[in-house]
This record gives sequence, C-alpha cells and structure tokens, in this order.
Amino acid sequence: MNESIDSLMNEVRRFPPSEEFRAESVVDASIYDAAEADRLQFWADRARELHWHEEFTQVLDWQPPHAKWFYDGKINVAYNCLDRHVEAGNGDRVAFHWEGEPGDQRKITYAEMTAEVKRLANVMLGLGIRKGDRVAIYMPMIPESVAAMLACARIGATHTTVFGGFSPQNLRMRVDDADAKLVITVDGFNRKGKVFALKPTVDTALEAEGHNVENVLVVRRGENEIDWNAGRDIWYHEAMADAEPEHVAEGMEAEHPLFILYTSGTTGNPKGILHTSAGYLTQAAYTHRIVFDIKPERDVFWCTADVGWVTGHSYVVYGPMANGVTQVMSEGTFDTPTPHRPWQMIERYGVTVFYTAPTAIRTFMKIGREYPQESDLSSLRVLGTVGEPINPEAWMWYRDVIGGGKTPVVDTWWQTETGAIMISPLAGVTELTPGSAEHVIPGIEIGILNEKGEPVPQGQGGLLTITSPWPGMLRTIWGDDKRYRETYWEKFGDKYFAGDGARIDDNGDIWLLGRVDDVMNVSGHRLSTAEIESSLVAHEATAEAAVVGASDATTGQAVVAFVILKSRFEQTKSVEEAEAILRKHVADDIGAIARPRQVFIVPDLPKTRSGKIMRRLLRDLAEGREVGDTTTLADGSVVKAIQEQMR
Ligand code: ATP
Ligand code: MG
Repeated sequence: MNESIDSLMNEVRRFPPSEEFRAESVVDASIYDAAEADRLQFWADRARELHWHEEFTQVLDWQPPHAKWFYDGKINVAYNCLDRHVEAGNGDRVAFHWEGEPGDQRKITYAEMTAEVKRLANVMLGLGIRKGDRVAIYMPMIPESVAAMLACARIGATHTTVFGGFSPQNLRMRVDDADAKLVITVDGFNRKGKVFALKPTVDTALEAEGHNVENVLVVRRGENEIDWNAGRDIWYHEAMADAEPEHVAEGMEAEHPLFILYTSGTTGNPKGILHTSAGYLTQAAYTHRIVFDIKPERDVFWCTADVGWVTGHSYVVYGPMANGVTQVMSEGTFDTPTPHRPWQMIERYGVTVFYTAPTAIRTFMKIGREYPQESDLSSLRVLGTVGEPINPEAWMWYRDVIGGGKTPVVDTWWQTETGAIMISPLAGVTELTPGSAEHVIPGIEIGILNEKGEPVPQGQGGLLTITSPWPGMLRTIWGDDKRYRETYWEKFGDKYFAGDGARIDDNGDIWLLGRVDDVMNVSGHRLSTAEIESSLVAHEATAEAAVVGASDATTGQAVVAFVILKSRFEQTKSVEEAEAILRKHVADDIGAIARPRQVFIVPDLPKTRSGKIMRRLLRDLAEGREVGDTTTLADGSVVKAIQEQMR
C-alpha cells in the first residue's frame, strides 16, 4: 500500500475576506513569516501573552515522543481565565449569556465567575481534593460545569469530563481509568422537553466496589427526585454557601496535568488523552484569537460543543476565557422548544462568531432555511466548523443562509490529541475555498507522506503527519504510554501520525480526506470517503451521505453508499429511482471509478455521541458481517433500521 490517495475533486470557487473585514482583523499575513522565521521564539512569544507566576526560560524539551513546553515556568490556568480579567478592570464583562432549554436565562460576568470558582476551589479543598488528584465531571451545559473545570485547574486537580449522554458503564470505565476521587454531577437537566436524570447514573456507576470516589457533589438543576447517599453525596449549593469566598491561585508547573479526556471512539476503544497546562493554554488561546479573529471588546462567541468533548474544553472554557471574551452557552438541544432556537439566540445576544459541527449544519439544511431566515443574523461576522470534513455544498449553504453570503467560514481540523486547532484558515487573512481547511496554523508543521514515510507529490493524497512537536500536543495516553507510542509514533518515528488522510492541491490548499482506515481500493485506485460523500451531498436529493469500501470479487473493493434523502425527495421518488439517480450523479460528477456499486437509502446513519459518522459499522453492514463494538454509538437502534433497509 505505497500509493497515494487519488483525488477526484476540483473546487474552483474562491472567497477572500472583504477589505473592510481585513482592515479590522487581529492579524495579517505577516504572522506566517514571523512563525517561520523562528518557530520556538514565536511560540515563546505566544506563551508570554499569558500571565506567569514564574517566568519560563526554557521553551521546548523534545525527547521523541515526549515533549515538555515552557517547562521551568509556573502558571495557573484558572487565574489566566478569570482573575487576570477582573484585575485588568474587565470584571463586569459578561462571561456567559446562558439559556436553559425551558427558556430560563442567566448572565454571569467574569467577576461573578471568578467568585464562584474561588468558592468551589475551597469546597473541593475541604473535601480533601489536592493537587494531582483526579475529579470526574459528569454534567450538562450549565455554567457550573465551567466553574467545576476551572476550580480543578485552580487547585491543580486534574479533571476528566464525561459527556452527559454516557451510560453508567461508560462513566465507570472513565472513573476507574482516571482513578477519580470526586464526581461532580447534577440531579438532572433539560433535554428535548423532559428532565433527564443524571445522578441515578452516577449511583449505578458507583454501585460496585473497587473505585476510589469518596464524594459526589450534586448541582441542583433538574429538581427531579433523587436517592441520597448520606456521607457521600453533597449538595453543591449547600457546600458553596458555607465555603470561604477568598482563594489565592498558586502557580503550577507548566507541565502539570490539566485534564484527561477520552476520545470520541469513532474508530474504536476511547483513549484517555492527557493534556498539561501552559502549552495547552497557549495554543488554545492563540488559535481562538487568530482563527476566529477575536477582539474581546467586540465579539460574542458561541461554540456549541459540549464540555464533554475537546472542543468544549478548548473553545468554550480555556481558549475563549483566557482571551476574556463574552460567550453564549445553552442547555438542551437545538430543536427544542422549536428549531428557531439557535437563530433566536444569535439575534438575542448579538452573536458575532458561531462555531459548530458539520453534523449540525447538515441537520439545519435538512430542516430547511425557513427557520434561520426568520431571525436577524446580521451580527454574525465569522462561522466555524469542526469534527468531520465539511462538504463544499454544506459549506456554501452555511455561508449563504447563516452567514448572509458574506461571512468567512473557517473549517478547522484538529483532534482531542492535538489539543487545539492545527489546520485552518484565518478569518481575516485567508482566501477561502469551500470544503478546504486551507493552511497550517502559524507555528505548526505537517507532512503528507506515503506508507514509506516519503512526502507525496503536491496534488496527491497521503497520510497526514505533524512533523514537529506543538505546545498543545497530548503528552501521553493516561496510564498507557505504550499505547501512546504505538498509536501515534510507531509508524514514522518522531513524526506524529494523525490517522487521517490529506492532500495539498496546486494552490497550496489542504483537503482532509477522512480517516486512513476508511480509504477504499477500487480497481487499484485508492479513493477517500470524503470526496465521494461530498459529491453525493452536492445532489439536491441528498441530506446526508456516508461511503465505505466493501470487498468485491471483480474490483477488490467497491464503493457502497448510505444516503439519507431530503424529505421532499423521499416523497416524490421511489427508492430504486433515487439509487439510480445518485449512482449516475457520482459517475458524472467525479468519474466512473467512484460510481457506487450500491446506494442504500437509509433513515439515519450510525454516529458517535459527538455526532461523527461511524463508517466502520457501515463497512461491517456492507460486507454482511456482525457489527463491531457499538458502545460509543449514540443510538443503537440505527444499525437495526439500516439492516432492515438493506434486506
Ligand atoms: P477515536 O480517536 O476514539 O476514534 P475520534 O477520532 O472521532 O475518536 P476526536 O478527537 O473527537 O475523536 O476527533 C478527531 C477526528 O475528527 C480527526 O482525526 C478527524 O478524523 C476528524 N476531524 C476533526 N475536524 C475535522 C475537519 N475540520 N475536517 C475533517 N475531519 C475532521
Ligand atoms: Mg481519533
């Protein structure tokens, strides 16, 4: 398997930022030269934009595959996200405009958030939590979740957040792996018009012996009845009322563990990714500022990611709060009480920058432009996306319908492992091409290689690697350094192997091609999933599409597509007609080699709880195998529904 990945797409549309936009931008193109001139100096300068309890003198210690950044300095991450802004006179600035799903609203300033976190730090100290201990945070999108993460950071406890949709087994696996001493949770929260109880899940997860959780701190949110384990369970509001208000943040070692976060599990068993303090915060804050063109006195930022995922860490908590920007946060889902909700919130709070996932954008497309068009979205300046390749048609829709045909759309590529954005346009600098993530972030270096580790020629696809260490990089897999070495470094030695395919076109634009494991080999051509999916989505009948390679007697592998139709087409075309139309469309659009052998019209696609398509399960279905590990699947019934369609 030495060949590169073939390329089928040729996108010619170009969108430079307007002159007015460029003039107001926080950076210009010279930032690329500065980073190139002296990479380590460039990162040191970015790190010095933060507050240091003790200045660092060393920038990088790189013993592949282990890096230490700014390692003789001391820093407090929470101080950088809170006290610093209050001391600079910005305590009255709103940190969060928050809305509950039932419509209740809260406004929390930086001064109020600082006070909350100080008290909570004292509560945690009172419960015996010390620097180096682990705390599991199993919470919904409420301001207390942010406070919990920052309170951990403040006292040097390492947090591991667990997405609120996970089961008792999922939670227990993470509590055990991280060896957590404290769990912070809620009684329940609002989701799709109902109260969704969370505390009972914690009770079940902790039922069996063998864990070291001493206390469960419970925020009251759902007001649902819950069982109470006296001696272990503590109400948040009661503990906070009794806590000392003052807490002085101390500097932590730059490499002090900040959090452990388990990957989404798209490809298999989640990995406990360890991130440390100073390097991570440096890259999160810097990328947030330059990618989204953030001025705290101008912008209102809304990243819709849950704090249970890395995007919620880097672009709800650490990056934006280090930059002292005002944010919007919401509990529950986008379509409850009505699909107007996100657009009304953008109008209500004057959101200027909106950052979400392709899966959400495709859902917005599916339900129709009528909803966003009823709100005034003219405050929006920048739109962003992360999590999966964004198909050019979805990109255009996002820019036209949500961005009024004028906002830059930044497609940001990164991973739980990278900690922060690695490949992305800069909103005020880059000429945009729909569907392309454009360029590496200044200070980052990548290579696109073949299996032998040689660079592939420009224009061809290959394996995406990161060729030098970066400040936000993972430091190891928690408790399993062997797996860390094997997963990311075995293939290319001192180059990080990301697991994704990519291509740099003749203009120097970078295209993400999906996971390397998903690449198909059809009659000797290596095809990526992303391009064929983009072609399918470009057809007016398609709402969503996933493509896999299934073994085939004549071609080696054949392209098999799973397509969700837009409701309009579901009604007017038979399944057979739709399949024939889509097979022909792909062949006409990008070539006969990519024509799907089969197109299955399905009601839904298997996704992780973070909304990513799990192609490996579709491959199992396409090859008629028993489906593999489904523990990270959001909705188990989807597989069955697809199987029925395939009969
Ligand atoms: P696991 O590693 O457990 O299988 P995961 O890779 O889905 O889970 P994350 O770290 O949440 O967990 O996702 C990172 C992956 O998401 C990337 O490796 C890439 O495949 C995909 N991705 C993220 N952003 C983009 C983007 N802008 N374009 C294309 N793909 C993206
Ligand atoms: Mg991954």
